Amino acid sequence: MKPESLMMSYGYKPSLSEGAIKCPIFQTSTFVFNNAMEGKRFFEIAYGLREKDEGEELGLIYSRLNNPDLEILENRLCLWDEAEQCAVFESGMSAISTVMMEFMVPGDLLLYSRPVYGGTDHFINHFLKKMKINSLGFLAGDTKEEIIKLIEDSGHGDKLAMIHIETPANPTNAVIDIEMCAEIKNHFSREDKEVLLSVDNTFMGPIWQHPLKHGADLVLYSATKYIGGHSDVIAGACLGSNELMGRVKGLRTFLGNMAGPWTGWLLMRSLETLKVRLDQQATNAKYVADYLNTHPMVEAVYYLGNTAKFGTEEEKKVLERQYSSYGAMVAFDIKGGETEAFQFLDSLKLIKLAVSLGGTESLAEHPQTMTHADVNPEDKKAMNITAKLVRLSIGVENHEDLIADLNQSFKSVHNS
Ligand SMILES: *Cc1c(COP(=O)(O)O)cnc(C)c1O
Repeated sequence: MKPESLMMSYGYKPSLSEGAIKCPIFQTSTFVFNNAMEGKRFFEIAYGLREKDEGEELGLIYSRLNNPDLEILENRLCLWDEAEQCAVFESGMSAISTVMMEFMVPGDLLLYSRPVYGGTDHFINHFLKKMKINSLGFLAGDTKEEIIKLIEDSGHGDKLAMIHIETPANPTNAVIDIEMCAEIKNHFSREDKEVLLSVDNTFMGPIWQHPLKHGADLVLYSATKYIGGHSDVIAGACLGSNELMGRVKGLRTFLGNMAGPWTGWLLMRSLETLKVRLDQQATNAKYVADYLNTHPMVEAVYYLGNTAKFGTEEEKKVLERQYSSYGAMVAFDIKGGETEAFQFLDSLKLIKLAVSLGGTESLAEHPQTMTHADVNPEDKKAMNITAKLVRLSIGVENHEDLIADLNQSFKSVHNS
């Protein structure tokens, strides 16, 4: 069956919860063992003191280690990406930072696509730097040969431990070839040290892109965005093989940054409508992009559907291979600069002026002064993050109402 058919029931047994059709919120810190031997055996597994017996599952111990609301949610998330295991965190940042801390040590080198999410960028360039982990950034559009040369010229090629990318890139939807990054990973991997490739797939929900299929080792999400989808919860997730996720969950246990049962329950509720929400959001985004493409006050539209039409041959190939939809993020350049962009943003009525994305309601923001305020000027220039850029996250509203709102907002900009 398809994942969307299983989101209401997978991994949950009503008979264990008084027949309740929905998984209750297991708001409990600890779980009662049937006897002392059972407790001993659970701990042996939890702390890796022995291998699991055939068919044995880790019993419930303590909610920092495991909780039904997290385990069932994690099992359901695995279905979308066809991953062996998932770990849910209390935020996207805690998922990303835990992975980076687990798989790198002082002296290692991290390669990452620029710009990455602001919080990730800060973690790399402040915390990891303090831990003596070096980093190198590359831009969407850089070729494999250029990136390999960049790594070799840094003198740290033998220390490359991890490649972390975001595609399509925020806010302009530039695409990065995951398979190319997997080739770079293989180029620098040695028998005794495999380079890991992680992909932050937040922009594509877990619906429209499946990085593990293209050679990524780990896929990361801010579940705050499409997975949560209602702008009412902060959460994160990481998925991958049993081997890698065992390590990720190990560090999560000791950092204690797992999601709580209430967050787990909210996300399970969100997963039931994930597919229908995202389908509707993508359909609406197409209407909005079509409208923007013809508006006289719009100079450029950054949308995967436009890349499909006007992109380079290389971009079109990547698009075709990696994405099953053009997504629901649309950015555009308004004619003018900050004044016009701000007048436009201040005039929106239905669409709310806020950062974040992926929720049921449409949002608009100004990357240069908001989400990307901290990005260095060189990257901003390379990524077309200018004063005239406006980013939209398209929600589930009626598309005619969205377009009417955009239209009245353009009209209220002084020079229209
Ligand atoms: C929001 C976001 C994050 C951070 O997630 P939080 O849930 O806010 O911690 C990471 N990556 C991307 C691409 C994001 O959009």
